[in-house]
Amino acid sequence: MADPPPATVDLIRAKRDGRTLTGDEVRWLIDAYTRGEVADEQMSALLMAIFFRGLAPAELREWTAAMIASGERLDLSTVGRPTVDKHSTGGVGDKVSLILAPLVAACGAAVPQLSGRGLGHTGGTLDKLEAIPGWRATLSPAEMIELLRTVGAVICAAGAGLAPADRKLYALRDVTGTVESIPLIASSIMSKKIAEGTSALVLDVKVGSGAFMTELGSARELAETMVMIGSEAGVRTSALLTAMDAPLGRAVGNALEVEESLAVLRGGGPADLVEVTLALAREMLALAGIDADPAAALADGRALEVYRAMIAGQGGDPDAELPAAAVTDVVRAPATGWLRRLDARAVGVAAWRLGAGRARKEDPVSAAAGILCRAKPGERVEAGQPLLELRADRASVLPGAHAALSDAVEIGSERPAAGPLIIDRVS
Ligand code: URA
Repeated sequence: MADPPPATVDLIRAKRDGRTLTGDEVRWLIDAYTRGEVADEQMSALLMAIFFRGLAPAELREWTAAMIASGERLDLSTVGRPTVDKHSTGGVGDKVSLILAPLVAACGAAVPQLSGRGLGHTGGTLDKLEAIPGWRATLSPAEMIELLRTVGAVICAAGAGLAPADRKLYALRDVTGTVESIPLIASSIMSKKIAEGTSALVLDVKVGSGAFMTELGSARELAETMVMIGSEAGVRTSALLTAMDAPLGRAVGNALEVEESLAVLRGGGPADLVEVTLALAREMLALAGIDADPAAALADGRALEVYRAMIAGQGGDPDAELPAAAVTDVVRAPATGWLRRLDARAVGVAAWRLGAGRARKEDPVSAAAGILCRAKPGERVEAGQPLLELRADRASVLPGAHAALSDAVEIGSERPAAGPLIIDRVS
């Protein structure tokens, strides 16, 4: 006769008191919670116990595996090219995926990017691409695989069947103060990426005021934890720690970021955005075992061709005009000197208040709203010159954005020291 299921309250007590849960216990908890047998209030207590006690390496492996097993796992073996994906922990102006997926595909890999929508001050890749008329985020697994075979890159919404346990747990963590736990974040991100079926994965773990992780130590711990989970699950995984104290590039907001991505794909664009994109592309190609120069694929237009095919393959018109804002406003430099700080979080919050982001999952976003940074840290500015250009659909949102930016800028007489954009690599 099979053993009776464990009493949930005993497992909560065990975790609360610091005991390591067994594989059977973890599998039962995740499965029973996904089926609705373990109640939200009990899972909330367990999550809080994990928040304080952490998860031992073996528990973390079982926890992630159980979340993957709660849904389907895509089989990309018929794609015919090495598969490699990138995940960013999220930053302000982070439009790297829009450039990177077609760029790495142009070099011979297949990039299956299952992405999310933005919540809070960082934007979501799907929201950005939805600024393009006709483009659709929802694809069936068969459509996704067909695009990977023919175009080599796809950016689409993760289906409801992928790691459903994480969907439920993430919503619960959001309302129980248990999001900020490294093992819970790492298992949440990695369960979705492993279920997606990619053979290799590069993580862009952002560090700084505009990032989820504001401290280098915790960003490194998150990167090491995710690399360990990926490697143990047979996915070749590495991570770059990259700076997120100022917005990446100059554009923040959905259509504005699509336009800036196109500038990079045409061989131009801001130097910081190009540097981070190329560093991630080189890392992805190395993991995929492809010897190619991504800078050449940007310069000669091959990446742009793949981008156009990727957008058209999902119903979008790559030549369509993007939505334009009804109102614009500027923030001017209060003094002459060196721009020493342009706070990424403040710019992200301001763009969000202008309409570029959402407060709740079901809120709509504006395609045209956002901010163009006319100056970046390290540049010389004159008193009164425009520093930030604000765009919105209606004037009533401008005061909230200005309030968010009230302490975003620092101008001084000394040129600021330029820190590295690529801070470290974890493998
Ligand atoms: N993103 C995720 O997918 N999960 C987390 O827990 C945090 C960020």
